[in-house]
Amino acid sequence: MKRFVVLLLSIFLLFGCGSPATDTSSTSNLTDGTYEGVGQGKNGDVKISITIENGEIVDGKVVETKETAGYASASDVILENVIASNSLDVDIVTGSTMTSEATLEAIKDCLAQAGGSEADLIKKEVGEAGKKELITEEHQVVVVGAGGAGLVAAIEAKNHGVEDVIIIEKMPFVGGNTLISGAEMAAPGNHLQEAEGIEDSADLYYEDVLVAGGDPALVRVLADNSLEDSKWMADEIGVIWIDELMFFGGHTVKRSLIPLGNRGTELITKLEAKAKDLGIKILLNTAATELITDDSGAVVGVKAEGKDADYEFSAKAVILATGGFGNNVEMRVKYDPSVDDSILSTNAAGIDGDGIVMAEAVGADLVDMEYIQLYPVCHPETGALLYVDDVRLFGATIIVNEEGERFVEELETRYVMSMAVKEQTGSVAYELMTLQAAIDAGVLENHKAEVDDLMENGFLVQADTLEEVAELMGVDPDNLVATVEKWNSYVDGGKDLDFNKRGKLFRIDEAPYWLLKFAPAVHHTMGGVKIDPSTHVINTEGEIIPGLYAAGEVTGGIHGNNRLGSVAIADIVVFGRIAGQTVAKEIAE
Ligand code: ADP
Repeated sequence: MKRFVVLLLSIFLLFGCGSPATDTSSTSNLTDGTYEGVGQGKNGDVKISITIENGEIVDGKVVETKETAGYASASDVILENVIASNSLDVDIVTGSTMTSEATLEAIKDCLAQAGGSEADLIKKEVGEAGKKELITEEHQVVVVGAGGAGLVAAIEAKNHGVEDVIIIEKMPFVGGNTLISGAEMAAPGNHLQEAEGIEDSADLYYEDVLVAGGDPALVRVLADNSLEDSKWMADEIGVIWIDELMFFGGHTVKRSLIPLGNRGTELITKLEAKAKDLGIKILLNTAATELITDDSGAVVGVKAEGKDADYEFSAKAVILATGGFGNNVEMRVKYDPSVDDSILSTNAAGIDGDGIVMAEAVGADLVDMEYIQLYPVCHPETGALLYVDDVRLFGATIIVNEEGERFVEELETRYVMSMAVKEQTGSVAYELMTLQAAIDAGVLENHKAEVDDLMENGFLVQADTLEEVAELMGVDPDNLVATVEKWNSYVDGGKDLDFNKRGKLFRIDEAPYWLLKFAPAVHHTMGGVKIDPSTHVINTEGEIIPGLYAAGEVTGGIHGNNRLGSVAIADIVVFGRIAGQTVAKEIAE
């Protein structure tokens, strides 16, 4: 009897359940064809098309995406894996969760249009090739991280005579936070300031940055080199700075250069092209995991995990340029418990604090780790930094709460503004501006996709009267009207009597009006590994760790408890260049 049951079960297993992997057409509900589906990404809709043949996804492409370059390529990675496995059961691209999920949502939408669902796909086994190959390589300089600081450091090392420089980058794309930033660069004493009659100096800039309590020796280097390095970015790298300046909170004067397109794309595209021209190899999808030291404690290389292989790179110098830890909630909470997972992040995928952890493991001292900066004006649901906010940086907005009242100076530091917004009803606030001001600030020209998406989803509204715009957004209309009347009287009198707003004051009296809803999100981590002015990493005994250098957001001590807008780009260029020059000099010795 028992044997009979086993036999029946075997017959059932053989013929009754599922179907052979080759015979896909017979069971699939999916109709052959090419379909277009939509998912909601970080910056808006992600449109994907896929082609189905005999129950199998045989092709796919991204039709339209508003995701920033780096994130957008997460869609390609997902598509590649979905097609290879004929399944939606694929890994999310690390750090690009929203884009990955949007891509999968769009594919599901396609499958539904084809008359079925993911249950109709028969999964193909993809080469689980077993153990990964271990590749050992020797280089003169290994740069970890292909964001702004890493690319600059590699280029400068090469320019100063290092023949063999390699950059390893954990993500499938270069750029890091630099790519998705506005990429303005503070440059005191620049030609545009001269033309506008703005008096500025390295000393004044030094004082502005030092207010936050950074290391005076590092801030001095930053202040003395920012102007010259902004010219290097133009002359050597080909970055175009437009003929206008931006005024960021906390600076005494307007001094920040703006790249073409008001985005980091201008910097990263040109830095990447330059690095390639110089023959610098950039190994993507390769995450550094551990620094290799010799018996004396000197860094002599780095271990890394690639997609298809593991690596051990030996090197005369390792430059850490892995950025901060804005996406690493565990690390955030360790150093500042208030910045928990209820707070979104503006950061690019891959910014997880890896370099800080690796450096600490070989004895590096960490400084200012508790200082985590929130950016005040971000998308209330995704945390993406909102570029409509450029209008504020040109001085032409006022900020109100749900009650329609101003509560903070619009050009205060990011920290003060973010904390002030957190205190308001719903921990959100609203920026009021005229459509004309948005046009003048280049928002419609440079950030149209963002504007469209915010409008479609009700985070940005437009109307011909202040009452109407307030009502559309759920802000108290009577109070808003009164606030604007008072504001305009301050403009006429030449002084903001409530918050003493700095810079030129603009009336808000021309329809149509825009009202933008926003919330703060984690933006920059000021703390990181301790460096000296030549970018050597310093250990907890105050000594140099031979062979280890660091530049950019991975380091601490420059921005103290608050990084001023446009000083991050100055930081990565100034210290990225110094890192490249220092390693070139020291390995030649
Ligand atoms: P910075 O502004 O200091 O240049 P970015 O955020 O622009 O920093 O760039 C940091 C880069 O480092 C990002 O491209 C990120 O993906 C990369 N990165 C982070 N961790 C690792 C790692 N473990 N291995 C390789 N690259 C990394």
